[in-house]
Amino acid sequence: MVSIVIVSHSIRLAEGVRELAEQMVAGQVELALAAGIDDPDNPIGTDAVKVMEAIESVYSEDGVLVLMDLGSALLSAELALELLPPERQAQVYLCEAPLIEGAMAAAVQAAGGGTIQQVMSEARGALAAKQAQLSDAVADTPTELTESAPQPTVDVEQPTTRLTVRNRLGLHARPAAQFVRTANRFTADMMVTKGDRQANAKSINQVATLGVRQGDEIIVSASGPDADAALAAITALADANFGEAEEIVSEAPSGPTPVRATEGDWLAGIAASPGVAVGPVFQYRPRLPDVVTVEVADPVAEGQRLRRALEEARLEIEALRRQAISRVGAAEAAIFEAHALFLQDPDLVDAALATIERERCNAEAAWNRAIEETAAAYRQMEDGYMRARAADVLDAGRRVLRQLMDLTPPSLSFEQPVIVLAADLTPSDTARLDPTAVLGIGTEVGGPTAHSAILARALGIPAVVGLGPALETIPAGQLIALDGSAGRLWPAPDTELLTVMEEKRARWQEVQAAAKRTSRAAAVTQDGRSIEVAANIGGPNDVPIAREYGAEGVGLFRTEFLFLDRETAPSEAEQVEAYRQAAAAMSGWPVIVRTLDVGGDKPLPYADLGREENPFLGWRGIRFCLDRPEIFKPQLRAILRASHDQALKLMFPMIGTLAELRAAKRMLAEARAELDAEGVGYDRQLEVGIMVEVPAAATVADRLASEVDFFSIGTNDLSQYVMAADRGNARVAPLADAFQPAVLRLIQRTVEAAHAADIWVGMCGELAGNALATPLLVGLGLDELSMNAPAIPAVKERIRSLHLSEARQLAPAVLDLDSADAVVSYLESL
Ligand code: PEP
Ligand code: MG
Repeated sequence: MVSIVIVSHSIRLAEGVRELAEQMVAGQVELALAAGIDDPDNPIGTDAVKVMEAIESVYSEDGVLVLMDLGSALLSAELALELLPPERQAQVYLCEAPLIEGAMAAAVQAAGGGTIQQVMSEARGALAAKQAQLSDAVADTPTELTESAPQPTVDVEQPTTRLTVRNRLGLHARPAAQFVRTANRFTADMMVTKGDRQANAKSINQVATLGVRQGDEIIVSASGPDADAALAAITALADANFGEAEEIVSEAPSGPTPVRATEGDWLAGIAASPGVAVGPVFQYRPRLPDVVTVEVADPVAEGQRLRRALEEARLEIEALRRQAISRVGAAEAAIFEAHALFLQDPDLVDAALATIERERCNAEAAWNRAIEETAAAYRQMEDGYMRARAADVLDAGRRVLRQLMDLTPPSLSFEQPVIVLAADLTPSDTARLDPTAVLGIGTEVGGPTAHSAILARALGIPAVVGLGPALETIPAGQLIALDGSAGRLWPAPDTELLTVMEEKRARWQEVQAAAKRTSRAAAVTQDGRSIEVAANIGGPNDVPIAREYGAEGVGLFRTEFLFLDRETAPSEAEQVEAYRQAAAAMSGWPVIVRTLDVGGDKPLPYADLGREENPFLGWRGIRFCLDRPEIFKPQLRAILRASHDQALKLMFPMIGTLAELRAAKRMLAEARAELDAEGVGYDRQLEVGIMVEVPAAATVADRLASEVDFFSIGTNDLSQYVMAADRGNARVAPLADAFQPAVLRLIQRTVEAAHAADIWVGMCGELAGNALATPLLVGLGLDELSMNAPAIPAVKERIRSLHLSEARQLAPAVLDLDSADAVVSYLESL
């Protein structure tokens, strides 16, 4: 049965409403009150937490109708909705009906077993009787959903700075994202001007569609109390090439627009990722259902639905970004940051919300229109690279549409190796591909600088793009050949050609192997100190790439990826298989399996994590696992079982206290005892370590060290917690930087504590894969460095160039510097 919540500023008013309703339905309907605030001197007001608690107290799968009196009651109710677990939000309806009449009508309809739509409709029509009697029409004024975002106005007399953009590809998505993130750190209104065109410096779409190219001069202006600081930050960013490394700055420009042609037996396209592939076709043709426009009764609720979908999409993108960091490195994964920024862009979001409000249409239609318009603006740009950004906008935008339509992306797992053909592949699709099962990629559209092409290169998958619509006519399963270096695809090769291509593929693989051979060599300093260089992985599929890049083991297996994107936790048997597979693929090199680290920015829909005000400071990692033995224990058993015949180590995340460590070890001891009783074997010498990523752990590292076999420093979390700066918040990104001297000092302290206790200490945060930091980390005494696989060759090379005795002298100087910037400059000068 539908239940009702009354939100009012006054307790007495709310109680009066309840009294009247009780009279009508004699207690048949669950009705809860959220009224007044806990301030004896001034009890009039509303409180979102109270509203949320009231909703929870009468929550029903049939629906909860929330009626409010006025003003802040609406805001509290909206906020309460956001505080609810996402799966509950959809059943809760905020209704604009008049409070007293609406509550009576709703109670009666609910008591009669009405659906939530019927109850809401009754409540909305509750004034009709009064209107008829008094013949006094009441205007039906829809609630304002949003103010359309004003374009900031910047007085030309205000401070400005002129910059010449040196980046080879201009302000394309990634530097534009850096630009917008920097602008957003300041309260000043900021505009950027190129020629006669102006854009809001805080809008990713506006900045990117300005079409700033290499050599263009832009004028950035700012007005507001921190205008000077904002301009100084933008100037510093421009000096640093908007965050692009020199080699990226000098990356080849977008190639000439290809002429698609069928020449003899082959289709001509654009070479996007080198290599040769021969294999059967898999036609990947995911289609979203057509977006139909329908009228909605409640634009406010529709706007909230859009906001929820945006939030869900943001979380998905963040998960993907983290996965991509492990697989292809931070630089390539940065595209997902741009995707997240697209979804936060006030232009895009406000345009969709305004459409919903103005046209009373569904969120799908409004959002679809907004993203199509933005993508069209990119498509019209002169620069080929910028035109390719349309695909990124659509990729991010369709993710939101899928959320709104409750659709999951189609699977990209294959039982046998295939060549994937598609109209286009999004970066998200490409990042999900398993390079051992995907021999090659061919797409109808796309360019060499599309992020899907960049990701394909990082994954080592040969790819040809821009092959045209003929691709769709190639039947699934047909054997085809593809040359990613020449940009050609043979849709029906004869046996002779197949033999030639197979040979070519073998030669290509040999060349690849030779290029990676040096990365297989050990990382030993000039004076003989050997450092283990390992890879971070998200699952067994990542191991072959890790090995190719020369990983000497896995320093961090982020097991949460086994748990995400599904409806229930993986079974113990499934987990045993995954851990075994990863270790077997590492052929004896050790694999450190980190136990589940969900919470924070990694939601787990089926685990009922609830909504938290500060999820990074909340119920995540080991804190969650200790409270949920039904999830944790099977994982511990699975790791132990897999350790029976494989080289595994076990690592607990987010340990902050001795008590947590001991509780986790107790749970592990229980798992061991169970396996003993069942006669199941496991490695009795299994090394057990912890991540040092909570500052508390670093400060009591001496005590923790005596109870574990190793430490691995997680600089991503350690930095955000030491600096009190959310790692996912672009505004405080420069603070959450592992080069901050405060973070480096804690690293030093942790290493010293580990060595004093005679245990080894590694690092698996992003800092470990940054070759700039390598001399310092080696000098500080780290025994192992674990990173995204593509970073391995450069870090190994750097280690080989060092003298330990010299590296040791760096720490005292570097740790005494004033700032992260000073540390970076110092290390760059080496
Ligand atoms: C870290 O915090 O540095 C780390 C490696 O763990 P994650 O990024 O998975 O939180
Ligand atoms: Mg962490």
